[in-house]
Amino acid sequence: MTPYKHFKCNQCGSDLDYAIGLHSLKCVSCGQVDPIEAEPLDQYLAHDYKQAISELSFFDPQTVSHELKCENCGANFTMPQNVHSEECPYCDLNVVVPVDHERHLSPDGVIPFEIQQQQAEAAFKKWLHGLWFAPTALKRKAIQAQAIQGSYMPLWAFDAQVESDYTGQRGDNYYTTVRVPTRVNGKTVMQNKTVVKIRWRHKSGRVFNQFDDVVVMGSYTLPLKFQNFLSRWDLFKTKEYNEKYLSGFRSELYQISLPDGFKLAKEVMYRTIRQTVRRDIGGDHQRIHSIDSVYHAVGYKLLLAPMWISAFNYKKKSFRYVINGQNGKAYGERPWSIYKIVGAVLLLAMIVGSIYVFSQQ
Ligand SMILES: [Zn+2]
Ligand SMILES: [Zn+2]
Repeated sequence: MTPYKHFKCNQCGSDLDYAIGLHSLKCVSCGQVDPIEAEPLDQYLAHDYKQAISELSFFDPQTVSHELKCENCGANFTMPQNVHSEECPYCDLNVVVPVDHERHLSPDGVIPFEIQQQQAEAAFKKWLHGLWFAPTALKRKAIQAQAIQGSYMPLWAFDAQVESDYTGQRGDNYYTTVRVPTRVNGKTVMQNKTVVKIRWRHKSGRVFNQFDDVVVMGSYTLPLKFQNFLSRWDLFKTKEYNEKYLSGFRSELYQISLPDGFKLAKEVMYRTIRQTVRRDIGGDHQRIHSIDSVYHAVGYKLLLAPMWISAFNYKKKSFRYVINGQNGKAYGERPWSIYKIVGAVLLLAMIVGSIYVFSQQ
């Protein structure tokens, strides 16, 4: 049996849940409030990445099966392998399994929930109604497929200093005059016309980028295409990891290993590096042929972030969505109306066509 923690009211013995927005545990029966004493996470904290991956045991998140015996109802139950906090499926007792340091890196910080479940449900409805090019029937027929669930999901945050050598081409516009045949009053005459041309020159150089807290997903529970949405957090509100924040919520262990997390972070960093290279090349146009980056002083931290997760059904398909539990923003998979898209394309073509006809007159 796996040992676990359960937070209990010292007045009446009932469950203490994390009370959203209060930084406290609160008794579900008598309302007794027990403040959580957690310091803000040091903004400069970062573990050395190279050192961590040299310790082989941290390479892969190991699957661990948690067999638990509920102290309240006596039932035996198993937690999913990537979960370390949830409720007993029989009596809803909150259980938090401490992270096994032999097998997993421990979270450094937790971003506490600030958005209540009702606010999250309202945010979802607003998002659904605001979708562009969604089928009209969606708003009526979307059916909540699952109850909305509050989950802490693991995130990796990376720092790095990156030196990049690049080769490419810089294009500068220049103007030249050409003689072109033009119809004037029914006759063809030769006229001068100024045209833009581009002069390309080879360019190479070195750029420097400093990255601080590039946030990527640490779990496969939500699709990787949610990555961009799930990277936006106010990290200044992160608290030092404390299991009390998890009480009453599901919480996941990381499934994406530290090196795989760094690969995701490099993809994010690469987009910024390309922009820096373009600026360094300068001119009116840029072509990039190669970028060769060296990553120095790579640091990481592991965070748990609050998300309200659920899915809705539409025409027998399931669409997952998530509401950021810190700021209430919603995002998800969605159906598209092919009729509306085709209609919009045709309308645009008509507008462009009539502008063209008008300009020719
Ligand atoms: Zn109580
Ligand atoms: Zn139980």
